[in-house]
Amino acid sequence: MSKEFKKEINMENKEEMETFLRDHFRYYIANNWNRLSSYANNMKIYNFGLSSEIENKLYDMLETDEFNDRLSNLIWDFALNNDYKWQSGWNGRSGGYLVLYAGGRKELDYKSRCTNCGQLNYGSVAETGNRKCGHCGGETQVDLTSPIYHPYLSWGSIDQDADFEDWDMDELKERVQLVTDFDQLCDDIVAEAVYLAENYDLSDETYYVPHTRKVLTERPA
Ligand SMILES: [Zn+2]
Repeated sequence: MSKEFKKEINMENKEEMETFLRDHFRYYIANNWNRLSSYANNMKIYNFGLSSEIENKLYDMLETDEFNDRLSNLIWDFALNNDYKWQSGWNGRSGGYLVLYAGGRKELDYKSRCTNCGQLNYGSVAETGNRKCGHCGGETQVDLTSPIYHPYLSWGSIDQDADFEDWDMDELKERVQLVTDFDQLCDDIVAEAVYLAENYDLSDETYYVPHTRKVLTERPA
């Protein structure tokens, strides 16, 4: 593979850090009409100098859930490692760019979960005793052992008009580390995609979906 995003930056060199942040590839946060941008990388498959065999396989694999799940896991690990304050997501027509987003996570009020159907409930079993699940009717609810969080993105630009000369060394180091970690994530995604293309084959699987319809049944005489 010919292209790697992660660069070694000398964290004692203020000018080198400033240049790295200033010159890093950027892409739009949302749509290009509002011109808000953040650190990003161009992840288009044809940019990586891969063999045409692997390239074509990647285009086909993009249509499978398993392939997309494997790449999403890396993206969620990055968010988790950054306590969701920093996340990343695909943007651009057909999602050719991975963009660094600021964000956070909000604690949800759910207190219990049905072990039968997975339905979340606001009531606590410890407080109210066992109740029927509103979804499946089972008395199969248990209290959550840890809160459930909902991640969200803030749609502001990141360092778009930043004057890095005014930043002190600690601020610069922290930001360079973040952007370097993001670049590493992009490398990991490419490596994972190539690994899957080299070690997995695509096959067709026919599956049947159960349907319900009304029918007439004659009453027994
Ligand atoms: Zn249930």
